Amino acid sequence: MNSYDVIIIGGGPAGLYSAFYSGLRNMKTKLIESQPFLGGKLNLYPEKMIWDAGGQPPILCQDFKQQIIQQGLTFEPTILLNTKVDFIDQVGDIFCITTNDGEVHFSKSVIMAVGGGIITPQKLPLTDAEKFEVTNLHYTVKNLSRFKEQRILISGGGNSAIDWAVDLLPLAKEMTLIYRGDTMKAHEAQVEKLKKAGVRFCYETTISSLHPDAANSRIEKVRLSDEEIIEVDHVLIHHGYNQDASLSFAGQCTPTLVHNYYYEADTAGKTSVPGIFAAGDIASYDGKVNLILGAFQDAVNAVNSAKQWIDPQSEKHAMVSSHNDRFDEKNKQIIAGMLGMEKV
Ligand SMILES: Cc1cc2nc3c(=O)[nH]c(=O)nc-3n(C[C@H](O)[C@H](O)[C@H](O)COP(=O)(O)OP(=O)(O)OC[C@H]3O[C@@H](n4cnc5c(N)ncnc54)[C@H](O)[C@@H]3O)c2cc1C
Repeated sequence: MNSYDVIIIGGGPAGLYSAFYSGLRNMKTKLIESQPFLGGKLNLYPEKMIWDAGGQPPILCQDFKQQIIQQGLTFEPTILLNTKVDFIDQVGDIFCITTNDGEVHFSKSVIMAVGGGIITPQKLPLTDAEKFEVTNLHYTVKNLSRFKEQRILISGGGNSAIDWAVDLLPLAKEMTLIYRGDTMKAHEAQVEKLKKAGVRFCYETTISSLHPDAANSRIEKVRLSDEEIIEVDHVLIHHGYNQDASLSFAGQCTPTLVHNYYYEADTAGKTSVPGIFAAGDIASYDGKVNLILGAFQDAVNAVNSAKQWIDPQSEKHAMVSSHNDRFDEKNKQIIAGMLGMEKV
């Protein structure tokens, strides 16, 4: 049986930092992520600027995501993508974690870093829409510059759709916003700003059909529910998210839930089940900070608690990184790189 010291469920900020920190603590680590990519919710707002990650100058979310992925891989944990954890059981001291492919993974401890569950954007319910996702139908805005001087149709009435419109305002040639409701749900000030700038708003309107160009590769025209046909260069959709939070436990190892979803935890990341820890947005305790920096702190606590659980003689905390011999070899490589040498 190939058993791990810790299996981390979820590859968002909490899971990635847990993977880094468990490596720092010499733990054999596996991280399981249901999406085909790491980064968790950071994949939902790649174009946004992050200002509040400690010590980090303002940075585009997609760049920050790359940094935390790289850091999470520092000690080469085993990473499984496209793999959803369905069921957790415990036999003796070992947790048995069943994934959607029928595999069972074994570990002495588990860190639940499942955040808001598996979040995917709600797609346009139109046949053939999917094929345009590689060209000009978008569910996230990854790169603002590609919309320069373009005619853009945005569908959605919430804050995220309006934020896209505000970000694209200085760049777009023409912008139309459509929403199925009769007023936008987003902040009024932002909506007013767009109206003043001449953005066209169509209420109680949806997309009826997409019409491709001659090569059948890009959306050229969109027919709206009021039969109007508009020409577009790009179509952006923000209709909210689907959330899959399904995950079950055998009776004897079911952590206590709060509000039917979050895991009740203490500040050391301990849930009601010894050996199962919680980190990041999924953890609920007094003073919990639902931000990236909160996820990092939770990860440190959860890993330290997991380490103590599997080895009660171990140190309660890891040594600070500047004194930690896990970095000796890596520091030499970094310094050699700075000095332009092969080795120091
Ligand atoms: C629009 C928006 C803007 C934000 N802006 C900021 C900001 O500026 N600064 C800031 O600090 N925070 C910001 N946040 C909050 C921040 O993104 C979250 O606090 C952070 O992502 C939480 O990390 P996490 O790892 O706990 O959860 P998540 O990021 O949600 O990651 C959880 C991961 O677990 C995976 N998962 C779930 N269930 C399973 C399962 N059963 N099996 C396998 N994998 C599973 C999911 O696919 C996901 O990848 C923002 C959030 C949003 C939505």
